[in-house]
Amino acid sequence: MKNQFKLALLDLDGTLWRDGQVIPGAPAFVERLREQGTQPVFFTNNSSRTPKEVVAALERCGIGAHPEEVCTSAQAAAHALMARIPAGSTVAYVGLNGLEEALRAAGFTPARAQGGNLHGASPDDAAAAVIGMDQNVTYHDLAIITRIAYRLGWFVLTNSDARYPVADGTFIPGNGSLGALVEYASGVRPIVTGKPDSSFVEFALLRYGVKKEEAVIIGDNIYTDVLAGAQAGVKTIHVLSGVSFPDATDLPQADETVESVANIFRQEPL
Ligand SMILES: [Mg+2]
Repeated sequence: MKNQFKLALLDLDGTLWRDGQVIPGAPAFVERLREQGTQPVFFTNNSSRTPKEVVAALERCGIGAHPEEVCTSAQAAAHALMARIPAGSTVAYVGLNGLEEALRAAGFTPARAQGGNLHGASPDDAAAAVIGMDQNVTYHDLAIITRIAYRLGWFVLTNSDARYPVADGTFIPGNGSLGALVEYASGVRPIVTGKPDSSFVEFALLRYGVKKEEAVIIGDNIYTDVLAGAQAGVKTIHVLSGVSFPDATDLPQADETVESVANIFRQEPL
């Protein structure tokens, strides 16, 4: 595929790095985008890290980036709330720095569910409840979120990933599994803001001021990255450097499939 794009929405894990190691060719690929006039955006379902923390992780991989180039599912969650509740509202959440900072930046008052209560607020004051990944979340934290979701009739989930891959080739439960507990107990369905939901892509297009034909999504996961593009009408390039689903059928089709980002938009053959 020829580079005809103003914006490249880049997945991180399995696309630019894997198990904390840079994917060979990824730093040169990001530089190539810049030289070709394409704005790289680090487009991640991970709601735990702040944009500055993502930049620091990219820099450890030799990839130069700015915080404004990071677009997270936590920021999309905060944006989704802006259309639904007044500025300044108390927002109950579980999650880490990235979600707390995104809620604050959007003008809300984040209140962490902690040990059966909300930190610094009463659960009755919460105008919304949001779930982002936190491996230290407890039963009592989720109980508070569940009760608020039940009272409001809705809650927000930063992404619906059932599992996260870990280095030994197995997995741990992902954010979607936390959301499933709350959904099951409350009987309320979440508003999901991460990939593959097309709202995340639309948020990024709006934020960076480009049309869908001017953007491309590049990622390793057919069920998040490629499906997000298919649902939003944005072209996709699937890289084989991350997760694979050998038994999968009925796969969403990428516009192009390559070994890794090292192969993308090169002007000379490898
Ligand atoms: Mg990935």
